[in-house]
Amino acid sequence: MKLSRYFLPILRDDPKEAEIVSHRLMLRAGMIRQASAGIYVWLPFGFRVLKKIEQIVREEQDRAGAIELLMPTIQLADIWRESGRYDDYGQEMLRIEDRHGRDMLYGPTNEEQITELFRDSAKSYRDLPRILYHIQWKFRDEVRPRFGVMRGREFLMKDGYSFDLTAEDARKSYNRMFVSYLRTFERMGLTSIPMAAETGPIGGDLSHEFIILADTGESEVFCHRDLVETPAPKDVDYDADLSGIVEEWTSKYAATSDMHDHAQFAREVPEDKQVSARGIEIGHIFYFGTKYSDPMRCRVQGPDGNLVTLHSGSYGIGVSRLPAAIIEASHDDAGIVWPDTVAPFFVGLVNLKTGDAQTDAACEDLYAKLRNAGLDVLYDDTDERAGAKFASMDLLGLPWQVIIGPKGLKSGEVEVKRRATGERSTMSPEEALNMLV
Ligand code: ATP
Ligand code: MG
Ligand code: MG
Ligand code: MG
Repeated sequence: MKLSRYFLPILRDDPKEAEIVSHRLMLRAGMIRQASAGIYVWLPFGFRVLKKIEQIVREEQDRAGAIELLMPTIQLADIWRESGRYDDYGQEMLRIEDRHGRDMLYGPTNEEQITELFRDSAKSYRDLPRILYHIQWKFRDEVRPRFGVMRGREFLMKDGYSFDLTAEDARKSYNRMFVSYLRTFERMGLTSIPMAAETGPIGGDLSHEFIILADTGESEVFCHRDLVETPAPKDVDYDADLSGIVEEWTSKYAATSDMHDHAQFAREVPEDKQVSARGIEIGHIFYFGTKYSDPMRCRVQGPDGNLVTLHSGSYGIGVSRLPAAIIEASHDDAGIVWPDTVAPFFVGLVNLKTGDAQTDAACEDLYAKLRNAGLDVLYDDTDERAGAKFASMDLLGLPWQVIIGPKGLKSGEVEVKRRATGERSTMSPEEALNMLV
């Protein structure tokens, strides 16, 4: 992508409305624009990150055996009356009436919709187990939308739902999602910690929030330091028994403030290992048994011919919260530092003297070669001065910068900079190409 033809409204100054660094940087880097309170336009640069994150979530869901579908954003109130949640959900739910006077709503979550679907489609125990998920926009009329997309009113969520014959089987589905979440977030460069959590309006009796530690987080959390240093499991066989992995992660203390027991924390965690910090909730998994399948009569025929009420769980990831969470975890004074896996472009190519024939030619040549090798490149071919170009590139946070100017070219060299470390080296354009590909 050539910057001169891109749509990237960079802000030079800090926007006043942004209270936390990720919000500030997302606005400055031209990733998002507010349309109204808690509702955002995803500008091209931000949209690329959102898509990358969505794709990682999708790949890890698929790997864990979940199946993707797409449910609508607008739901009938009737199914929520069936589950008993229509009146309970309160003002966070955006309620709509259609021209026929039918009560509808913009879905804040999809337990009812998927339970209705599954009830009407699954007939026998042979149709189990299943985990179905979608990645779809949600609306919650948050009391205090703030921090940009971190707490939006309209936001993108991956929500998955499991259906099993028994509580024991449901636990296996829960474990699949538990392990896949650790892997999903690690791929984005995040250290997530599963913490015992309250179930809230979703209900149920087993639940973990996946938290990343950040000073700007809205949750107060407590955990054993070892959990912060434990790497996510590798080479997982999702058909194998995963209870050992889950046991390993849940045997050490980790709880959000709702579930925190100070005496237990003090007893179980040595003082030098006690982490008491703030965190961002990026995912949340629930096992809620028959909470929805019971009132909604989601049943199948069991092996003995009798009808069995299904056991379910639900599994959310805050897809549109993640770009902000990643920036909170990965930035410096100059701007964003994207982990390679979610970076909107892999390389930023900087032309130090646009209009100089030799520099233009060298840039165009390397730009073409990098793209032919399959890399996403943002080429700054504008006639801004060099200082401004450097500042913008650092702000945008692409993993690699290649800087080309007339001086270096005289000795056949370009400069390559790793954004995360600031390390620079000079080399020939061919060497730069070989290094990056
Ligand atoms: P929070 O405690 O932040 O309000 P929640 O517990 O209400 O979140 P869940 O119902 O558990 O949210 O939804 C699953 C995931 O969706 C959350 O873990 C979070 O990452 C994301 N999410 C929830 N609300 C928002 C929001 N208003 N804006 C962006 N992401 C959100
Ligand atoms: Mg909430
Ligand atoms: Mg929560
Ligand atoms: Mg939650």
